Amino acid sequence: MRTILDRAKERHDIDPERLITNTAYGSGPMLGWLVDRGIKPYTPVLDKTGRTDGTWSRTDFEWDPENNQYICPEGEPLKQFRRNYSDPYRGPSGKSVAKYQALKHACQACSSKMKCCPKADARKITREEHENARQLARDIAKAKQYAVSMRLHKKVEMLFAHFKRILGLGRLRLRAPCGANDEFLLASTAQNLRILAKIFPAPQQTSKA
Ligand code: SF4
Repeated sequence: MRTILDRAKERHDIDPERLITNTAYGSGPMLGWLVDRGIKPYTPVLDKTGRTDGTWSRTDFEWDPENNQYICPEGEPLKQFRRNYSDPYRGPSGKSVAKYQALKHACQACSSKMKCCPKADARKITREEHENARQLARDIAKAKQYAVSMRLHKKVEMLFAHFKRILGLGRLRLRAPCGANDEFLLASTAQNLRILAKIFPAPQQTSKA
């Protein structure tokens, strides 16, 4: 992806405003890289934070960026630091992951504890380095234009599926980049002819009486 974008810029001076991709490109580092480059990610977010035991997942907690904290469904803050460090980089942060925790006594007295953290003394939540980019991708996914973009994406994907399944390009027969180029050029020509034939059907032969 990075090479393709660099090449598009270098050869055609194209800087895409948005990129429509599938979940395979929805990891935090990938989304962060796109957003840093000024490209809006139209990508389903790869999110493994969902819980399977029915307890509240991270998405049930509200992010409060001004105060660098999460707010739980019961209104309690989950903070990264409970003290002010003279050195802002000090503190219990992990590798590219920030940890937020509610106060133990608040969780112990909470009526929703069984839905939140039944096995822990207090609820903890982690926040990845690229969470802002992930949130942007989630917000984009709620917009009307996202559905239109995904339909366009599906159309392109179907052309590649046609290459693979119908035209048998799952495996190339010619070798080296030149061979691959020739084979794809021929296949694309065949595919475009097929589309044109659908748009402009051949005139029907009229039988002579
Ligand atoms: S258990 Fe703690 S974090 Fe969870 S809802 Fe209750 S107070 Fe909030």
